[in-house]
Amino acid sequence: MTGEPRLGAFDLKDAPSMDGLRACVHCGICLPQCPTYRVLGEEMDSPRGRIYLMRAAAEGRMDLTATMARHLDLCLGCRACESACPSGVPFGHLLEATRAQLASRGVHGTGTDRTTLNLALQWFPYPRRLAPMMRALYAYQRSGLQALVRSLGFLASFRTLRNMEALLPRLPAGNGVPELTPAQGKRRGRAGLLTGCVQRFVYPEVNRDTARLLSAAGYDVVTPREQECCGALHLHAGQLTEFRQMATKFMAAWESDLDVIVVNAAGCGSALKEYGHWLDDGAGSFSSKVRDISEVLLEADLPLGSLGETVTYHDACHLAHGQKIRSEPRQLLKRIPGLVLVELPDSDLCCGSAGVYNLLEPGIADELGRRKVERIRATGARIVVAGNPGCLMQISRHCRAQGLEIEVAHPVSLLARVLGR
Ligand code: SF4
Ligand code: SF4
Repeated sequence: MTGEPRLGAFDLKDAPSMDGLRACVHCGICLPQCPTYRVLGEEMDSPRGRIYLMRAAAEGRMDLTATMARHLDLCLGCRACESACPSGVPFGHLLEATRAQLASRGVHGTGTDRTTLNLALQWFPYPRRLAPMMRALYAYQRSGLQALVRSLGFLASFRTLRNMEALLPRLPAGNGVPELTPAQGKRRGRAGLLTGCVQRFVYPEVNRDTARLLSAAGYDVVTPREQECCGALHLHAGQLTEFRQMATKFMAAWESDLDVIVVNAAGCGSALKEYGHWLDDGAGSFSSKVRDISEVLLEADLPLGSLGETVTYHDACHLAHGQKIRSEPRQLLKRIPGLVLVELPDSDLCCGSAGVYNLLEPGIADELGRRKVERIRATGARIVVAGNPGCLMQISRHCRAQGLEIEVAHPVSLLARVLGR
């Protein structure tokens, strides 16, 4: 025990909000919307069960335990429960605050794969560390070694490596985005473009397409070379000290005269919009400039040619639940002449990606991925779109596994394909 003020079993600093916890009236409306409850069917792996544990700790009725940590580790952090909750329970903040308390006290979930989590936190959010790894993986894929490794089943005994390898799409040789892409036509302002840690290597064409669309919409697009990670992965893992350091460094990389900071990765956008909650006052004004690409493009009048395709849309959790952005991407897609948009049942149910959750909890993640692809198949669409690189990788992987030949794309890829045609 420390001499610091306390909230039950929690330290007062960065404790989950007692008002937020008390807002839960145990109605259970959120349960059918919770992916882990749908897969596991356990009350303690539902939002209501997790809130019960957090509140019991906050009221001093239980200590922070490995069992409690495990139930929170199994949570995807998708925030579908927040969208469903009629009482306004801020589940995302409660979860992140509680995870931070567990991490700072060294309480870890029984059976949680901490080795993989630590490796992911030390590598994925650092583009300078990722670059040589991605070059090696590119050579691995192109040299024929990947085909050999797969045919001989070399990775069969290495669960995490096998999962990472299966998730990775064919890496492109492509370049990044220029530091400045000038506006075309009537000028609207200056936009900063976030390139993402993994996205810049795995889907660089999404960033190039985003810059091209913003330029056509009238923005000078500034893409700072020195931008590093926004800290989303650390925030969602409850590593608040590292998150705050990364966020402070991230904000310093952007010119102050930007009119808007544009994000095309849902998880990053959601974290950036929450800087004001976790950091000092100045962070709130930074957050207020952050917008998802779909919000920005909806205000533009882009010249779009036709695309005679049937398309379905998957709501990335951190767009639909984290940022409440659902209609903007759909409206944009409907502006493409000839495109038929068919609704995907349970479109806002997590696909199992959830940052690095699919590496940490492959059993639940695979089941969610499998169910997602079954629903996509039933729509009959030839293209499925999603505004988050993690979802694109997870859905692509499960389409390959189920032999579903369908294009998996970011919405900006479709818009850029018909821009000016
Ligand atoms: S964040 Fe998602 S997985 Fe976690 S309790 Fe809420 S709905 Fe369930
Ligand atoms: S979190 Fe909201 S929806 Fe879920 S049980 Fe509590 S009050 Fe009901």
